[in-house]
Amino acid sequence: MTTEQAPAGQTPEDQPAEVSNWDIVNHWFDVAADRLELRDDVAAVLRSSYREVQVQVPVSLGDGRIHVFSGFRVQHNGARGPYKGGIRFHPDVDLDEVRALAMLMTWKTAVVGIPYGGAKGGVNCDSRALEPRELQAIARSFMDKIEKVLGPTRDIAAPDVGTNAQTMAWLMDEYGKLHGHTPAIVTGKPIALEGSYGREAATGRGVIFVLEEALEHLDMELDGLTFAIQGFGNVGSWAARILHDKGGKLIAVDTVDGSIRSDAGIDPHRLHRFLYEESGDIDAFADSDSISKTEFLATECDVFIPAALGGAIHANNADTLNCRILLEGANSPTTPKADEILTDKGVYIAPDVVCNAGGVIVSYFEWVQNLQHFRWDEAEVNERLEKIIKRGFGDIAAKCRDDQTSPRIAAYELGIQRVVEASRIRGYIP
Ligand code: NAD
Repeated sequence: MTTEQAPAGQTPEDQPAEVSNWDIVNHWFDVAADRLELRDDVAAVLRSSYREVQVQVPVSLGDGRIHVFSGFRVQHNGARGPYKGGIRFHPDVDLDEVRALAMLMTWKTAVVGIPYGGAKGGVNCDSRALEPRELQAIARSFMDKIEKVLGPTRDIAAPDVGTNAQTMAWLMDEYGKLHGHTPAIVTGKPIALEGSYGREAATGRGVIFVLEEALEHLDMELDGLTFAIQGFGNVGSWAARILHDKGGKLIAVDTVDGSIRSDAGIDPHRLHRFLYEESGDIDAFADSDSISKTEFLATECDVFIPAALGGAIHANNADTLNCRILLEGANSPTTPKADEILTDKGVYIAPDVVCNAGGVIVSYFEWVQNLQHFRWDEAEVNERLEKIIKRGFGDIAAKCRDDQTSPRIAAYELGIQRVVEASRIRGYIP
């Protein structure tokens, strides 16, 4: 769909992005590859995936009919270690989106210096409309189809949009039926099944560690900062709770079910309980006003955190954003055109490549603990996460200074350089 004509009932701000997630990731890859003067043939290797698997996921649902979903696993590049990446259950999942997310993961693991390649997976089902029994059947059927390309030293899965610790438990159990007990096949598992302390909150916690570094860079204080958050799932709700506990003030929240605002502040702990324990409707949350998505996007705040889907901030709504810092909790939330508009407005953008890397960092810790059959306590996990993600941010900041470029371009360049170096040493490329 073009951005020229909005369907009935949609404002220009609500429209889908002008480009796909794949276009977004590819755009930044091309810019960075050009600046690095990568040879065309080397760029072609790095742009394409090592392996792309598409499978049929037929599942009998509660209506008594067999529904055939499509499942995908894309392994982008494994020069630096086993493939690693989340599994998404969402109706919009397709090969292009999974391919984009896999490539982004390759640069992300390289930027924060953990020994993984990049992968991603997904099934085009609507997790919100399905019963737990149906989700379990989808997870097991999907694992049966892709297990041949996975393995604890080959490719390790994790949660993403529409999946959680429970989904990981089903995936691990199904893999175990074929290969024996193998906790290291997935990360983000429940604590009762060799999950890691701190993993559930890790992506949101990492987002706030990156904010702390950005604030120092911008000479700003955290205490009293106002923030708005799009997406109140795993990443968004944890980022909101952690920032609130450190002194930030949450003033607006947007989810797929509606948006709310309160200048007096929204307590994210209460909102989380209301949505997830009491099954409340967000528009009915006490002491806040229900607002439109357009009003949400225009919220005047210090920090805006997109933590939902890719392409949320695009050519037709970027100009309405009224923030000083954009913290990309989601993957590819900002299109290149939106990035340009925001940069021209003086917004500091902390890019997804480092900003949401906390999840994969603690997934790495979980994998290490599983391989050693040894458990770390939460304080140790959080301390190590802080060190690694802040080091990644520091490497990017140094490159920004040296090369006079944006954090996003610096991050892509750094990621690509590290993958090229590993590929050369292995003998994959000249
Ligand atoms: P989730 O399924 O737990 O939550 C998704 C949230 O997005 C929900 O609150 C939902 O209401 C909201 N949302 C969906 N569509 C929306 C729309 N059109 N408008 C407004 N809100 C909408 O997912 P998650 O795991 O929190 O992932 C969120 C983002 O973070 C994704 O881009 C994901 O790839 C990225 N990410 C997740 C992790 C992780 O560890 N889970 C790690 C790195 C990056």
